[in-house]
Formats: sequence, structure tokens, C-alpha cells
Amino acid sequence: MNNSGFKFDNTYANLPEIMATKLSPVAVKKPELVILNHDLAKSLGLDFSKHSDQENAEIFSGNKLIDGSLPLAQAYCGHQFGHFVMLGDGRAILLGEHIDPKNQRWDIQLKGSGKTPYSRGGDGRAALGPMLREYIISEAIHFLNIPTTRSLAVVTTGEDVLRETKLKGAVLTRIASSHLRVGTFQYVAAKQDISALKTLVDYAIERHYPELLQAQNKAIALFKSVMKRQIELIVNWMRVSFIHGVMNTDNMSISGESIDYGPCAFMDHYDTKTVFSSIDHYGRYAYGSQPIIGQWNLARFAESLFPLLDEDEKKSEGIANDLIKEYEELFADKFHVMMKNKLGMISDEDQDKQMMSDLFKLMHKNQADYTNTFRYLINGKFPQEKLLNDPDFIIWEAEWKKRLSKNQKSEDGYQLMMKHNPLFIPRNHKVEEALSAADDGDISKFLSLCEVIKKPYTEDVNLEEFTKPAPASDRVYKTYCGT
Ligand code: AMP
Ligand code: MG
Repeated sequence: MNNSGFKFDNTYANLPEIMATKLSPVAVKKPELVILNHDLAKSLGLDFSKHSDQENAEIFSGNKLIDGSLPLAQAYCGHQFGHFVMLGDGRAILLGEHIDPKNQRWDIQLKGSGKTPYSRGGDGRAALGPMLREYIISEAIHFLNIPTTRSLAVVTTGEDVLRETKLKGAVLTRIASSHLRVGTFQYVAAKQDISALKTLVDYAIERHYPELLQAQNKAIALFKSVMKRQIELIVNWMRVSFIHGVMNTDNMSISGESIDYGPCAFMDHYDTKTVFSSIDHYGRYAYGSQPIIGQWNLARFAESLFPLLDEDEKKSEGIANDLIKEYEELFADKFHVMMKNKLGMISDEDQDKQMMSDLFKLMHKNQADYTNTFRYLINGKFPQEKLLNDPDFIIWEAEWKKRLSKNQKSEDGYQLMMKHNPLFIPRNHKVEEALSAADDGDISKFLSLCEVIKKPYTEDVNLEEFTKPAPASDRVYKTYCGT
């Protein structure tokens, strides 16, 4: 078997010993390939087309280790639903860092690869449904032009995993610009190892923010950059109605990528209180709470950096408070620009903010589908009529059209709207339908959905069914973590 083009250069393994445990994936009984993302492979300079499906299944199950890999499980902590916990890769193995033809570094990670010292009570395994779910949603987020980890392959293991019921075991291969999390910093801070903390800051800067290498205080500079990227990320989630579902600090990436797709889903009708996750009993991670949770998580990040913000602990606290306070204004500004883009507003007008909040109220009152409302403003088509018959909306729309006439060129507003308002999101009922068929051995619906999400901004009359929200009977939708 050839090496498929892998060029490993494994730097994480050289970090202080406390950061990881070197160990191999636990072999599985009978690996079978379910899906392999050849397009992604190609963009990484990899080629698996010369291998048989069986050979690829051996690679992506972890049964056969690729030459040059140096497998390890990473240690980290996290605030899970507000509670601090020691964690780590309990069911994942980093195979190594691959350098692509553009000289970019990518973590190649297997998820569902067996027990590790961080498994706590878990079995180290994953089920097919949740792994395919991560595959499709992460790919959808990528094609929506939002930074994210991506999915290279899913294999089944030939073993059952026991959850509420018996499920098919599976392993997902995840690609990420790194797996450094807020929780990674929390872990080193909890160990009170300041030298390791400094090393970690340098490492994160080298990997993700090389422009900060000369910064006077690297920890402060890193914090500001991470905050900026997290704000951009969450604003983007809000733009496309994405609900992450488990925004624990261990699921917040230092790179600014969306990571760890568990019980995530896209909101249909506009309601900021929307929660899908079966484990989110109090709505901590509801659609409309994501901005404030982002700030909360970043406050935990700032705390983990205390020893490096200033030599004087008291001063560090003040610096952290000042840094974190900047979040609100930065977020509001980014959110405003995002909404202007969605509404095709180019110049700045006094009425813009009011128009946005009026539209939100009208969408909420009429239970209007979020995605389709914005597309209606572009193309005049909307399968759901209630909002369109609301006299207040009719007035709003006329006002909005007047507002757009203040743009210098009407074409520019239209272009903006086309770029920022997707037509196709992975609708929850479509995802469930595809996952359920895949579990029964029919992957065709899943593959079709993989195609639909590749061009989320392009009209296609043949794909109308993928633009419809779930029927009312499917409204009480729940997603499960699948752990
Ligand atoms: P998650 O909710 O997927 O972000 O996982 C939170 C933590 O639980 C991480 O440390 C995971 O590695 C760990 N974990 C999740 N599922 C399992 C499992 N089946 N076996 C062992 N550890 C797990
Ligand atoms: Mg996680």
C-alpha cells in the first residue's frame, strides 16, 4: 500500500509531557468504508484512489497506522455546562500533523478510536449516526464559508456500541488546523505549570497567529486574536441559524474553527430560545445565547492566561476584565455588519438597526422560517405565507425597499444578499432521513445531501424540496450527543 501522500511533521508530540499520552488506536473487528471525501483528500495533497475500499477501511479505522504518524491522545479540561472537569481525548487519537502542498499543517484525528487514559467511564467508541452527522454538518458549515474542522472519512467497525440501544460502531477521520482548545489552556493552568503555559502560548501563536510572534505580551495578543476569531465565528453561526449545542470550553477552538459537532442543528422558524440538544435542559446553549456564552468561555480563557498577563496577579485580573469587556462592542459591530449584508444594506443609515429588530420581531411573531425569509427578500419566493400576509411585514418590506434605494448601486446590495443568505442548509428532517437510511445500509440519501450542501448559495429549481422546513409534525426535534 502506498503512503497516500501523507507528509507528517508531528509537533504536538514535542510539547511538555503532561500535554498528551502517546498510544495507538484500539484495533476494530471488521472495518468497512462508508464514505471517503476524495475532494477534501485532493485539496490536502492526498490520494486514496489507488487503494481498495478494504485498504482504506484499515487506514481510517486505525487498524493500519500510516507511516510517519505518531499517535497520541491530548489532555485538556473544560467547563461543561458551567462545571469544570478534567477531560482529554477519551475516544479520539491524533495520528499526526500532515503538511499539505501549500505548506499548511493539518491535524489528522480519528474519533471513536477506542479507550484512552482520558476515557473516564466511556467506552472510547462512537456510533455511525453521530459520526455521519458530524461529517455532513461540518462539510455544510465549510461550504457555507464558515471556518470549521472537516471530515475525511467514516468507517464502521463491525462492533456494536451500547447506548440507549445497540448501535453500529464507527470511526470518523477529522481534519483540523489544530485541536487546541480553550480547555487545553485550562488544563495547563490547572496544573500550575507556568513554563508549559508559556510554551503553549508560543505554540498556539506559531500555529495560528504567526503575526503575533513579536508581540510585547504574547498572552494578551493571543487572547485578543482568539476573541476576534470567535466573534467572527459565532456571528457566522447566527447568520446561517446554526446552533452548536454544546459550547463547552473544551469545544471552543483556539483557531476559530467550529469544532465538535454533537447535538448541533439549524433553526427553522425564528426563535432565539431554540434548543435541540436533549442534554441542554436549561437552554444554556440556545440559538440566542451563543453570543453571551462565547464571552463566558473567553473569560475562562483569560483566566487560564492570568500568570502571563502580568506578574502581579491583581493586575492580571484587571487586564483580563478590560479585555473581556471589549467583547460586547466588537460583537455588536460584527453582528450589525453581518445583518446589513443579509439585508443588502450598503451605506449606513440611522434606521438600519431598527429595521433589523423589527424584522426579527415579525419573524418571531409569525414563526417564519429564518433561511427562507431572507431568500424571499432576494427572489420573492417563500413556501410559507403567514409572514407575507402580516400587514406589519408588508409595511416593513416597503420601507426596506425604500431603504435599499439609498444604496448607490442596487446591484451591489443584491450581490451582498446572494453571498450571505444561503438557500440550502442541512434541514433537520433531511439529515435524520439520510442518517436513518444510512444506518439501514442505504447511503444514497446521505450522498445526495452531501451534494446539496456543496452549493448552498446557488438557486436550483430541482432541489426545492431541500429548502422546505420540517413539517409541523416534525417540529419537536431533538438531537442526541451520541456519546
Ligand atoms: P464531547 O461532548 O464529545 O465534547 O466530549 C466530552 C468529553 O467526553 C471528551 O473528553 C470526550 O473525549 C469524552 N467522551 C465522549 N464520549 C466518550 C466515549 N464514548 N468514551 C470515552 N470518552 C468519551
Ligand atoms: Mg468535545
